[in-house]
Amino acid sequence: MEEIVWIGTLVKEIYSQTKLMRSLMPGECAIYNRATICHLCSGPFARVNNWKVRDHDYFTGAFIEVAWNNCNKLRRHPKHLSIPFNNLAYNAHFVKTQLD
Ligand SMILES: [Zn+2]
Repeated sequence: MEEIVWIGTLVKEIYSQTKLMRSLMPGECAIYNRATICHLCSGPFARVNNWKVRDHDYFTGAFIEVAWNNCNKLRRHPKHLSIPFNNLAYNAHFVKTQLD
């Protein structure tokens, strides 16, 4: 159980750190310049009160795709972490006894 708590603390720390976007590679500049729709909502880049931005991975700083500014702001880090268990029927007993 202590190991699960330690992993949770580690993941929380990783999620709390965000990286700035690195410089675009030549191919990525072309993707940005040619983009006509937001990769998050598929809306066309035609509105005046919204503009296209470079959506990037906040953990690696890598360019992902082109998005509306508003869509990009609404995209958030995940609030949960899925942990797969092998043989849950057996292992859940040990987790449950530690949570009680
Ligand atoms: Zn969008």
